Amino acid sequence: MKKQLLGATLTLIIAGVYTTTWASPGHLPAWSYTAPTGPENWGDLHGEYALCSSGKVQSPIDINDATVTALAPLVFSYQPSAATVLNNGHTIQLSPTDSGSLTLASGNYSFVQMHFHTPSEESIQGRTYPMDAHLVHRNAAGELAVVALLFEEGAHNPALEVILAAMPTVAGDVVNLESIDIAAFLPASHHYYAYMGSLTTPPCAEGVRWQVLSSVVQLSSAQLRAFQALYPMNARPVQPLNGRSVHVGS
Ligand SMILES: [Zn+2]
Repeated sequence: MKKQLLGATLTLIIAGVYTTTWASPGHLPAWSYTAPTGPENWGDLHGEYALCSSGKVQSPIDINDATVTALAPLVFSYQPSAATVLNNGHTIQLSPTDSGSLTLASGNYSFVQMHFHTPSEESIQGRTYPMDAHLVHRNAAGELAVVALLFEEGAHNPALEVILAAMPTVAGDVVNLESIDIAAFLPASHHYYAYMGSLTTPPCAEGVRWQVLSSVVQLSSAQLRAFQALYPMNARPVQPLNGRSVHVGS
């Protein structure tokens, strides 16, 4: 009984992601990564996007001067799951039915979806990478925790290939995947930077807990080109820190 209820809840979450992402042009203005609807104007496009310009705790950021702290280890309890791959008009988004969860010092967060940006939105000491993945998790209170994974060009990435081979080329289209294991994307080291920020797309909502892995993973140049053929540039520029501190594990 409990398992059935959980399944129903997750289905609703996925339906919600689908609807809010794709139905937004109907009641909220379209946004993009180029003028006149690009990041510098997001905050002016609609009242619900106001934080994109007025927010003081925004993402992404350039990670510099991190304070060394005893950060709790990231505990990934991932499992293989069926999933959908959606081209949402801004990126490719993978939404598993039940991929497990992430446990932080602040509690347990269920995996909701992952998606990609090129170039990377986060930079480390001013260095940008060709791509990143954002692994989005949500706790029972609805609070978000995102794990950012940076990619550099190098070896072919078999985990990524599952998504690239399936991704729909037409915005709004969805493809079903029989099984995907999110754990296959993670580097061996889970050492990370932590800071408080926001969604990096409208409505730029704040209170998002960010964990940026310091170990970079690889993708081949052919894989990077395959993604960039659909989305050549879908990264928000870095935002001011405004006195926030960034922590890093020792
Ligand atoms: Zn993202």
